[in-house]
Amino acid sequence: MARIELVNLHKSFGAVAAVKDLTMNIEDGEFVVFVGPSGCGKTTTLRMIAGFEDPTSGEIRIGGKVVNDLEPRDRGLGMVFQSHALFPHKNVAQNIEFGLRMKKVPQAERVKRVQDVAEMVRITHLLGKMPGQCSGGESQRIALARTLVTNPSTFLLDEPLSSLDAKLRRELRAECDRLHQALNRTFIYVTHDQEEAMTLADRIVVMRAGEVEQVGSPMDIYANPVSYFVADFFGSPSMNLVAGEIVQDGAGARFRSANFNVALPGRFKDVKPGAVTLGIRPEHVAVGGNGGAPQAASLPVRLVEPLGRDTLLYFDAGSERAFVAISEGLAMAEVQVGAPLSLCFDPERLHLFGADGRRLGPQHA
Ligand code: ATP
Repeated sequence: MARIELVNLHKSFGAVAAVKDLTMNIEDGEFVVFVGPSGCGKTTTLRMIAGFEDPTSGEIRIGGKVVNDLEPRDRGLGMVFQSHALFPHKNVAQNIEFGLRMKKVPQAERVKRVQDVAEMVRITHLLGKMPGQCSGGESQRIALARTLVTNPSTFLLDEPLSSLDAKLRRELRAECDRLHQALNRTFIYVTHDQEEAMTLADRIVVMRAGEVEQVGSPMDIYANPVSYFVADFFGSPSMNLVAGEIVQDGAGARFRSANFNVALPGRFKDVKPGAVTLGIRPEHVAVGGNGGAPQAASLPVRLVEPLGRDTLLYFDAGSERAFVAISEGLAMAEVQVGAPLSLCFDPERLHLFGADGRRLGPQHA
């Protein structure tokens, strides 16, 4: 079994603390994605699990056993890197079987296993080719096959799709998903792409400046971000985040700014008056006063983007960053730029973040 436990894991490079006191468990068979902006420590975390980097302090346990002093090859893990670095003078089949040769696996078994994994990632037709004759997407499949063939308990993938174009990324993302389900192995995947994290993960670990900001299922992270940082990082288009203040009047708490005046639902009744940021996702904004909730703002349209199934509306909210609403269908596609429209917010979907960036009020049910 390959439950992975990270216990108070810390890594410094001189004065730079790349990973700070990371403690979490990764369950057997789970697909865990580490995500965050460049430099947040996700690759260093993965490299410590793999054994390519020694922790400054803390423990890594695999299947209950401390592996800090084990060589990478003795940890039973398979790593797929961002750059696939295939041997240029070996053909695809020889590239894939390389790890098996090192382990002195007999030839007949090598041939069978190479054939099996080639079928699994659909590259049987490439086995006789040289790496130089393969496209980027094909090379990435070969790199996957090369790891698959060693039959690791856990796959460690470091931005494996980042060098591919958008269509290939989607295709190979689906492939990773399929492999995870078919193999029932643990996958630990590093990316800076929030969409990749949302689509692949059972559990997402959001990292920021060496620390874990939030751990949760994709839907939990999307619906209940613990901080401004997480709220802003996930979602495309991103959550609208408006600076303003809380005021209390006889009817309860309100959020106010130059352009917004929002009655807050009862769950925010204990939030103290003062500076806050209000968050609302574009899909939770009703345009044209048909939301049932009282009007939160009336803003002029800056730009209309008809996407077919939905229309994106960008409003001027007195800042450089537009306030965005998603309206279903094309009903809003003909709206005049400059025309003021009434906006209502779904009260159940409002978020508040304090001056320290942390969530205020209870999380959503
Ligand atoms: P990216 O997406 O850019 O790869 P990341 O989240 O994976 O970023 P890491 O590569 O883990 O981040 O780096 C975390 C921090 O540690 C960064 O500040 C980085 O500059 C630093 N760092 C990483 N490796 C080394 C090293 N070998 N020597 C010195 N500093 C390093």
